[in-house]
Amino acid sequence: MAMTGPTPCSSMSNHTKERVTMTKVTLENFYSNLIAQHEEREMRQKKLEQMMEEEGLKDEEKRIRRSAHAQKETEFLRLKRTRLGLEDFESLKVIGRGAFGEVRLVQKKDTGHVYAMKILRKADMLEKEQVGHIRAERDILVEADSLWVVKMFYSFQDKLNLYLIMEFLPGGDMMTLLMKKDTLTEEETQFYIAETVLAIDSIHQLGFIHRDIKPDNLLLDSKGHVKLSDFGLCTGLKKAHRTEFYRNLNHSLPSDFTFQNMNSKRKAETWKRNRRQLAFSTVGTPDYIAPEVFMQTGYNKLCDWWSLGVIMYEMLIGYPPFCSETPQETYKKVMNWKETLTFPPEVPISDKAKDLILRFCCEWEHRIGASGVEEIKSNLFFEGVDWEHIRERPAAISIEIKSIDDTSNFDEFPESDILKPTGKCFGSACKPSFFPVE
Ligand code: ATP
Ligand code: MG
Repeated sequence: MAMTGPTPCSSMSNHTKERVTMTKVTLENFYSNLIAQHEEREMRQKKLEQMMEEEGLKDEEKRIRRSAHAQKETEFLRLKRTRLGLEDFESLKVIGRGAFGEVRLVQKKDTGHVYAMKILRKADMLEKEQVGHIRAERDILVEADSLWVVKMFYSFQDKLNLYLIMEFLPGGDMMTLLMKKDTLTEEETQFYIAETVLAIDSIHQLGFIHRDIKPDNLLLDSKGHVKLSDFGLCTGLKKAHRTEFYRNLNHSLPSDFTFQNMNSKRKAETWKRNRRQLAFSTVGTPDYIAPEVFMQTGYNKLCDWWSLGVIMYEMLIGYPPFCSETPQETYKKVMNWKETLTFPPEVPISDKAKDLILRFCCEWEHRIGASGVEEIKSNLFFEGVDWEHIRERPAAISIEIKSIDDTSNFDEFPESDILKPTGKCFGSACKPSFFPVE
């Protein structure tokens, strides 16, 4: 990146210092990365060969798979090698909003390929020193190349924001789907919950706990299959995950009598009306968080299965089991789940479904999945699911996509000025630079 023009927003010496540090880090990382990348690439090749052997593919089929794999690797390498910056992408549309920024559909100017670009405002991410650490963790996931996790290609930053370039999933997210529909059928629920079981298990196998499984983080690809959104980036920063946030608030707040007295239809309407706002707030929603996550006693990967139980309830009933007017009320209900987790008689669901929800949402010691994912897969609710091929088979709800940049499955978001340089910071100092952990 050429350094031209004045640097009005920082003194020269500071600016130079920053560049020197960055060069040092980049150089140090360069060689270790080079070796690691080579090894990882070989590992992926080995994995592919092993998988093809296991599947017993014919030579011709193997050849096709190898060539597709090589093409993907080349694309990946090219993206990694090139020093991308904001100027290499054209922003087409805002497609999502989160607590710390937004997600846009962008097009790479030279290739015409479309991607989703997540923009995170640094100023909003309070504990900035955590970012590098989280990024490093997620890098492992990038390399893992899981079918169940949104693929991340590249990241860069400037003075204001952090930019993540990832694959664009045109199917939208589960929150938007649930807001459009009153409820899902048991068959549809079986499909989405089964796929999410495999997705969660795949990250558990890599040694990660998601901790923030919720409908807004379940994305749908062009065929309607589930992928977990790029994760771990902000979870630790949200107040909803911290117990302190709920302390001393309990008594000063009025109880949500209005909510409790609503019938399930009104509850669903109220929930859906307020839902998007909840997704944007920096507080986040405690609706999907397992009770043990709030407690000081610690938690393990089983907390992700609790969240899945909450989502399953929401799919079938129309709103999640602990929803209330305020996060504090919701928190109280989650902690008091033994009394508050009930099923409205006016929304009938099968015993199989109810049983599974109660097996997901219970003390972690007794929770389904404690002895492994097989326990979940063999649950009666999943009878008939083809676990091996579910991702290759038609999805429960198919997605209609007219072009590579079709955004009809997303809500409308007003244009924002997140990308516009402010008066104070303009010029080369604002140009994208490498994120040191890369
Ligand atoms: P987090 O959920 O980790 O706190 P966040 O809410 O700020 O972060 P995301 O959930 O990643 O951000 O994204 C917000 C919304 O943007 C999603 O709910 C989804 O609608 C949309 N979105 C995110 N990533 C993609 C993608 N790769 N393709 C299409 N849409 C996406
Ligand atoms: Mg989100």
